[in-house]
Amino acid sequence: MDLAFTPEEQAFRDEVHGWVRAHLPPEISHKVHNALRLTRDDMQGWARILGKKGWLGYGWPREFGGPGWSAVQKHLFEEECALAGAPRIVPFGPVMVAPVIMAFGSPEQQRRFLPGIASGEVWWSQGYSEPGSGSDLASLKTRAVRQGDKYIVNGQKTWTTLGQYGEWMFNLVRTSTEGKPQTGISFLLLDMKSPGVTVRPIRLLDGECEVNEVFFDNVEVPAENLIGEENKGWNYAKFLLAHERTGIADVNRSKRELERLKRIAKREGLWDDLRFRDQIALLEVDIVALEMMVLRVLAAQKSGRNPLDIAGLLKIRGSEIQQRYAELMMLAAGPFALPLIHEAMDAGWQGDFPGGDAGLAPLASTYFNLRKTTIYGGSNEVQRNIVAQTVLG
Ligand SMILES: Cc1cc2nc3c(=O)[nH]c(=O)nc-3n(C[C@H](O)[C@H](O)[C@H](O)COP(=O)(O)OP(=O)(O)OC[C@H]3O[C@@H](n4cnc5c(N)ncnc54)[C@H](O)[C@@H]3O)c2cc1C
Repeated sequence: MDLAFTPEEQAFRDEVHGWVRAHLPPEISHKVHNALRLTRDDMQGWARILGKKGWLGYGWPREFGGPGWSAVQKHLFEEECALAGAPRIVPFGPVMVAPVIMAFGSPEQQRRFLPGIASGEVWWSQGYSEPGSGSDLASLKTRAVRQGDKYIVNGQKTWTTLGQYGEWMFNLVRTSTEGKPQTGISFLLLDMKSPGVTVRPIRLLDGECEVNEVFFDNVEVPAENLIGEENKGWNYAKFLLAHERTGIADVNRSKRELERLKRIAKREGLWDDLRFRDQIALLEVDIVALEMMVLRVLAAQKSGRNPLDIAGLLKIRGSEIQQRYAELMMLAAGPFALPLIHEAMDAGWQGDFPGGDAGLAPLASTYFNLRKTTIYGGSNEVQRNIVAQTVLG
């Protein structure tokens, strides 16, 4: 197995490196490098810049206007963006629903929805989880009843990430209660500005409103917004979840944050403490090991073999690493890391304690925020069950 990049891949990396550094607004990368609050405009501004270049749909095939990159090229693109301090691409449109529309949508749906996703103009949300239906997603209860040429939707979704900005939502709804729960689910595209949709923010541990509850009260959805066939939505939902194999590890972000951890440790004098440096070294070894796992998946894909079925392992290790670097940053900053000051997450904030605007202040927020990583995208306990079944046999 050859894990080294070819000269062509290196040249590709150089091209992406140069372009991203030239086009990423410095005020946005400053925020990302210091874990400051990103506004909607920051996230969508970067999405639009990528969209103009044709790189927002960086995983898309050429026939749908994408760059047609290989798995390795996609990985290099993600890495260059993360290391430069670009915001993560909000995945719900370009990474999640777009491949479903390409694979199962009608030509009319493809013409209607894909351009707005590719350009970054339209903000999508993911409407899968419900109260009581997270890990056990197939038990979802939001009902869609067909009446003539429309569906009437009633029910509730929850944990909808950035749903406060959502314009469209891809939604799993129950269209039948016959047979197994999986066979009565459909995949609907829902205009979030429709009458009867209410979005209510949920405040998380870090004091931010990153997720929402979304309620549907007799919401009318044109039947033409059904993807594929009625009651086959579970197949499309599974296709969507399986689509991203290596991105879920978020190893590139961990590489960037490792450098931030080292900066903080040096500033606070803990770099000279050998025991603390040991902890950083252990973390670095884990990150390199995770990167090797990602490269092994890419190498398998490149040589036409079935990619290793280790998405669950990548998710478990990646999320644990993210929580570990947040813990070490807190330890490195000591008492300065403790206050949870919301203004400190805004660029230019001048705190009245040492290190106020030097990347220390939002550490508590980052720490609390990253508690989510072992829950979302399928909890780590559930991932362990899947790994046990698929990898260990
Ligand atoms: C920050 C954040 C953002 C999210 N964004 C979105 C979004 O945009 N859209 C969306 O649809 N959903 C989103 N989710 C929901 C996410 O997918 C669910 O939280 C997740 O699937 C877990 O479901 P649950 O919260 O209902 O917990 P539950 O399924 O109730 O699980 C509770 C606990 O029981 C454990 N558990 C459950 N089943 C098993 C089992 N079989 N074996 C062992 N342990 C088990 C779990 O690991 C967990 O510890 C988000 C969640 C978070 C935290």
